[in-house]
Amino acid sequence: MRLVRRIAQAKRIVERTQKRELAIGLVPTMGYLHEGHLSLVRIARKKCDFLIVSIFVNPTQFGPKEDFRRYPRDLRRDLRLLKMEGVDLVFYPSVREMYPAGYRTYVEVHEWSRLLCGASRPTHFRGVTTVVLKLFNILAPDIAVFGRKDYQQAVIIGKMVKDLNLRIRVITGPIVREKDGLAMSSRNKYLNARERKNALVLGESLKWVRQAYKRGLRDPQAGILRMNRMIKGKGGRIDYIEMVDKNTLEPVRKLKKGTLVALAVFFGKTRLIDNTIL
Ligand code: AMP
Repeated sequence: MRLVRRIAQAKRIVERTQKRELAIGLVPTMGYLHEGHLSLVRIARKKCDFLIVSIFVNPTQFGPKEDFRRYPRDLRRDLRLLKMEGVDLVFYPSVREMYPAGYRTYVEVHEWSRLLCGASRPTHFRGVTTVVLKLFNILAPDIAVFGRKDYQQAVIIGKMVKDLNLRIRVITGPIVREKDGLAMSSRNKYLNARERKNALVLGESLKWVRQAYKRGLRDPQAGILRMNRMIKGKGGRIDYIEMVDKNTLEPVRKLKKGTLVALAVFFGKTRLIDNTIL
């Protein structure tokens, strides 16, 4: 497994790989890896010949008051885990390498970048699509794998790929949870013991809405109201709870198969996201 920090060097390796007609797979991450990331690496490993994982804590997707500086990092551990998964190349650029002085260009999937998480994080998805497009251009993957934990992100990247006619197959993997139901996230590290326990209500509220839907619940507002109460009862500060079409992210008037129930909730200072599809 090679560790590459320079764009020029990564491009040279990619060119050689393309000449050998090997299919390139990419799993973009911000590091501090857990089983959620590794599940995507395993999906990608089966679908390509040459597997690249990028580790880059992307400053442009963090707001000015967000956790860019204190975002957890542990490169040595990440590399050990990735080596065990048979990854061929880890791309680990510096911020300066990706955004040299004078950097000016951003891509945005208009409107969708302001829905759900975009309402309270207005520049987040612009940062995500920009860095992902840069990674696609540098690493030229045939397939790229994203987690459904960040459902909106996967939908927005799929839309960018379609709208910009990129020749990349976007694949998504299911949410990986801890045994007690908390969706795995690098940010779970921020939670203290009480917040960690209270945060279980997120998975529980999503389980409740799935069951309620099976029993005949069709009114999104009634569902949102009940989830709201459940979560507030555990001290969660709600950013949003929404029930939307899983392809267009438009709010639905009636719950149906394929409705995405997505939420973002603060426990203490930590903002957690989770979702389910009915
Ligand atoms: P991040 O390092 O948080 O930027 O995440 C990198 C990739 O891993 C994204 O595609 C995420 O959606 C995915 N991911 C993060 N947590 C999970 C999880 N618990 N289950 C599945 N995929 C995940």
